[in-house]
Amino acid sequence: PEPTGADDKRIAIEARGIVKAFGQGPSALRALDNVSVSIRENEFFTLLGPSGCGKTTLLRLIAGFEYPTEGAILLHGDDIAGLPPFKRPINTVFQSYALFPHLTVWENVAFGLQMLGKSKADIEARVAVMLKLVHMEELAQRRTDQISGGQAQRVALARALAPSPKVLLLDEPLSALDYKLRKEMQIELKRMQNETGITFVFVTHDQEEALTMSDRIAVMSRGKVLQVGSPWDIYDKPADRFVADFIGETNFLKASVVSIENGVARVMLASGTEIVATIAEGFQPRDSVTVVVRPEHARAVQQGGQLSGSIENVVYFGTDTHIHIKLDSGELFTVRQQNSRTQSCGFKVGDRAGVEIAPDAAQVLRD
Ligand code: ATP
Repeated sequence: PEPTGADDKRIAIEARGIVKAFGQGPSALRALDNVSVSIRENEFFTLLGPSGCGKTTLLRLIAGFEYPTEGAILLHGDDIAGLPPFKRPINTVFQSYALFPHLTVWENVAFGLQMLGKSKADIEARVAVMLKLVHMEELAQRRTDQISGGQAQRVALARALAPSPKVLLLDEPLSALDYKLRKEMQIELKRMQNETGITFVFVTHDQEEALTMSDRIAVMSRGKVLQVGSPWDIYDKPADRFVADFIGETNFLKASVVSIENGVARVMLASGTEIVATIAEGFQPRDSVTVVVRPEHARAVQQGGQLSGSIENVVYFGTDTHIHIKLDSGELFTVRQQNSRTQSCGFKVGDRAGVEIAPDAAQVLRD
């Protein structure tokens, strides 16, 4: 359906039919190839994809550092092509933070407010609120070349949030941090987004980070948006093979469609076994397809199961065990099962095993 006026108000940023080409003629590179996304107000929205897929380019277009070759960027329904970056109610946190090293934490956070010509009293009050939000009150007078990476990250955020932008763009802001700090900052960032109600557009190539932080995710590849949805949608109902493969681990099985009824297909696997799998519209009987099954939706069994093969490897992870099975069809299949406190999974390399796929776990995708 066509968007109504009421819905438009809830859209903070809309990219409409964006093409961004670098260079001219046949050698031009299409960094973005007809991208359309709508980012809602108060949303934690993530652009996720491998290096070079166009995430940063899209962010730079929204910020106004680049202009689209075709298409438009709308802010609350208005085309903002004519607005230079500093006039857009949009701020950016860069991967490098770009703090002023010779200024204190306090001065860094106050900087944007001073540029806007705010009164001294307003600045004092606002900086105090921001430093509290990022838990940096105690280091307010420290120079920013004398703080840690995680602290610098928080100062950069406070500085970007201080002028109350409508939208905050974040380009891989956590990539410089070590694993543990990154995990902490993921939760902190989510909290700050909740508390401020500002729309966050977050860029990452880390699928786990995207899943844990986002309200919605746009998965990108080679200048295109392949799927937009909640973390659950993206993980559980991947639109295609690329998304299924990029988001978490997945098993791929070759198959052909036998019959389709009410969104459920019977498919024949390479081994000749028939299984049921959910299927989207647009498939026909006899289509060659790929069936995907998440490793945690299958388990290895001594007897029975829809698939059979022999154990290639058993990898213990503390909370769970990953069992790699070479199926009789020659395909590799991984199951991931929770560990019991009292016994091991009971399989060793070379054992014969069956694979039991959970009901509704198999999904048909285009080959
Ligand atoms: P990364 O995660 O590595 O930052 P990305 O998804 O953000 O990657 P972009 O930086 O948007 O990707 O780049 C998309 C494509 O456009 C890449 O192939 C890149 O080389 C190209 N590109 C980006 N900026 C320019 C430019 N100014 N001139 C020419 N090509 C560019």
